[in-house]
Amino acid sequence: MANVLAVLEQRGGVLKQVALEALTAARQLADASGGGGSVDAFVLGPSGMDVSELGKFGADQIMVGESDELSLYQPDSYAAATVKQVQSGDYGAILMAATAMGKDLGPRVAARLDCPLAADVTAFEAGDRLTVSRPVYSGKAVYRLEITASPCVISVRPNVFQPIENARDAATVKITPPDEEVRSRTIEIKEPGKARLDVTEAPIVVSGGRGLKEPENFNLVEDLADALGNAAVGASRAVVDAGWRSHSDQVGQTGKTVSPQLYVAIGISGAIQHLAGMRTSKVIVAINKDKDAPIFKIADYGIVGDLFEIVPRLTQEIKNLRRA
Ligand SMILES: Cc1cc2nc3c(=O)[nH]c(=O)nc-3n(C[C@H](O)[C@H](O)[C@H](O)COP(=O)(O)OP(=O)(O)OC[C@H]3O[C@@H](n4cnc5c(N)ncnc54)[C@H](O)[C@@H]3O)c2cc1C
Repeated sequence: MANVLAVLEQRGGVLKQVALEALTAARQLADASGGGGSVDAFVLGPSGMDVSELGKFGADQIMVGESDELSLYQPDSYAAATVKQVQSGDYGAILMAATAMGKDLGPRVAARLDCPLAADVTAFEAGDRLTVSRPVYSGKAVYRLEITASPCVISVRPNVFQPIENARDAATVKITPPDEEVRSRTIEIKEPGKARLDVTEAPIVVSGGRGLKEPENFNLVEDLADALGNAAVGASRAVVDAGWRSHSDQVGQTGKTVSPQLYVAIGISGAIQHLAGMRTSKVIVAINKDKDAPIFKIADYGIVGDLFEIVPRLTQEIKNLRRA
């Protein structure tokens, strides 16, 4: 493995948490491969971005392309600029987070470079050969892929590679993105109307399902998330299809994949399609009145009982502990 280009994501000119995760993964990949590969952080966005902390998280160089046209993710322009950067350097891997942006950008870059793409990676082993792993078949199997071509594009699952400080004396280099014929343009990204973290980025996700009976009862889930702090609220597809929650909250095969430190499933049966989106969470707590609910098969802690009794008590206990 030669050098690694870490393509990092910003929103509103501020680096996202997944940017530091992708940079940490890039650093680990470069170091594990031996040979002293360097890591170039690559950020496209509006003028005046603060990228200074990237040196703290392992970047040897910080390449910044600033233009108001690039404030929002633009598929054609971002792909063209990334490819230009790859072609101007000696990179063995192009690494990014498997977010909505990374899932769109990764294949575009791989196609333009005619190189392999390994998506949604959760682990890699580097040495003479690079092998990456990712869960497949709704998390029932782990797929290991040996990558023999160079360069390759790798997207890493959010919340798996925790940011690790690894200070470098990184120089910042301004780059000029190429003029690219734009076939489609992002004109707006609608943020959810609440000041909550996205489920893919939060260290804690509290999710609710059909067991809540009514959309109004999601306040129990919201209250528990508030008591825990730094938590996002997720949902099963059943309640999203019923219009109780937005699709942006949906966890699972046709929703988002999450890997938080703590996942709390409330009134969720644990259908395989739901498990596909959350089974790599570090600690899973399930609350369900059916002791045979499939969610208990993968839960680290299970509470069998009525959520309408358990959740308010749990919330109160957490508040008491936090006050103590
Ligand atoms: C192609 C495809 C893709 C899909 N993608 C997804 C996806 O991305 N995400 C997803 O979630 N689903 C997905 N599904 C749907 C999935 O199969 C399930 O139907 C769905 O996850 C069920 O949601 P649920 O667990 O909220 O509801 P249910 O299966 O109805 O479960 C409700 C649970 O609540 C419990 N409960 C009820 N009352 C209480 C109470 N008072 N206290 C405690 N527990 C209680 C019940 O015991 C039950 O286990 C997909 C399905 C298909 C076919």
